[in-house]
Amino acid sequence: MLTEKQAADAPAPRAAGVPLDPASLVCLFEGHYVPLAAANVNIMTHAFMYGTAVFEGIRAYWNEEQQQLFALKVPEHMTRIRNSCKVMLMTDVPSVDQLTNEAIEVLQRNRFREDAYVRPSFYKSSRAIGVKLHGLEHRLLHPRGPVRRLRGHDRRRQGRHGLLGAARATRRSRRGQDRRLVREPGISKTEANLNGFDEALVLSDDGHVSEGSAENIFVVRDGVLHTPTVADDILEGITRAGIMEIAADLGYAVVERTIDRSELYIADEAFFTGTGAQISPIVEVDRRPLGTGVVGPITARIKDRYFDIVRGRVPEFGHWVTPVYPR
Ligand code: PMP
Repeated sequence: MLTEKQAADAPAPRAAGVPLDPASLVCLFEGHYVPLAAANVNIMTHAFMYGTAVFEGIRAYWNEEQQQLFALKVPEHMTRIRNSCKVMLMTDVPSVDQLTNEAIEVLQRNRFREDAYVRPSFYKSSRAIGVKLHGLEHRLLHPRGPVRRLRGHDRRRQGRHGLLGAARATRRSRRGQDRRLVREPGISKTEANLNGFDEALVLSDDGHVSEGSAENIFVVRDGVLHTPTVADDILEGITRAGIMEIAADLGYAVVERTIDRSELYIADEAFFTGTGAQISPIVEVDRRPLGTGVVGPITARIKDRYFDIVRGRVPEFGHWVTPVYPR
């Protein structure tokens, strides 16, 4: 909840269509709410030198009818960032509740009336030379901003070309490292893009389907959804868990199992899931049309349900979203 003073400090709401000045966004930086332009770290900062930071991406969806912004699965993301902190030997991290409240407060302070994205990050803030992870201080940063529909996943158009939200995927890279310890940000995605594909299909060490560059994958065969197991070197996506919940609710069986890459060539449908990708149908893989080469009916049904839920339109799934503004 905003105090009167905070409300007075918050940026004035923008009229529709007026471009945002990113420097004026309010973020929580080292315990203070400041404009993004004032949230800077020194180049000697450990996180800058050695990449010792952890982050989450959280979406918030504007609902025009309800004049409400809904933040999606915030406690789940805060639980995961606290786990990431454990891996990085960051202790005394605030509780899930506190982090959740902070995320909501910064959204409030920015008075977003559009889809927005929250990017909490804990980073090693000591100015120190040496790659060790222990004995260092860390700080929290909550920057955020509105999202443009980068890939237009919230639209319901279908079609083979110009299909917004469809991915043409290629199998390309393998990852042999524990996902929780080592990220390869952008490498597989870049490789895929440079080779003319929209997204990469990352394989596990033993050659099975693992996930996309920043997405989990679901494959539909004979009306059943299949997704790789946690032992297939996946990141345990929050969206993945949500899709399993939606599928069960819609009456589809979901099987977690190891998936051969050749199964993608003969699958009926497949789609990626993730906070960024949301639900992205895959219509082509390795230059072969996947299924009929257009968005399949089960994918479309799950996708429609997902977007109704995240915009706060489905009361039974109200536990997924936190309303940002007081009712
Ligand atoms: N796999 C990887 C490697 C990712 O980076 C992400 C994005 N965090 C995902 C899957 C999807 O996870 P989520 O649904 O929690 O965003």
